[in-house]
Amino acid sequence: MHEMALAQSLLSMAEEEIARCSCSRLLMVRVEYGALAGLMPEALRCCFEMLTSGTPHAQARLELVRLPLRLRCPFCGTTFGEDGEEDSDARNALAAHCPGCGELFGHIVEQGKEMLLSRIEAV
Ligand SMILES: [Zn+2]
Repeated sequence: MHEMALAQSLLSMAEEEIARCSCSRLLMVRVEYGALAGLMPEALRCCFEMLTSGTPHAQARLELVRLPLRLRCPFCGTTFGEDGEEDSDARNALAAHCPGCGELFGHIVEQGKEMLLSRIEAV
């Protein structure tokens, strides 16, 4: 299960990070993920809770921030993106014509595939 492996690696990264500051208990972990990263927020949250329950991190909150898709046209340089907050909007934007020159192909994904541990709070 992809989300379980992901939750495990997020948790071990966060644990390494807080150990460096002599902290032992996670309070909050924030993950920013791109619209095309293929992440299922509810599944990840569920796995994270399963992994932390019964551990010193049981109270840790997982914050998931979805980064909207941003594309750049290599022909005219226009940047554009999705209209809404849904993954289907991100896919629609990928298949859309450039609003600047109308080109359909070759759009560069400037933001959308990343996944990063952006913030950790611990005591
Ligand atoms: Zn263009």
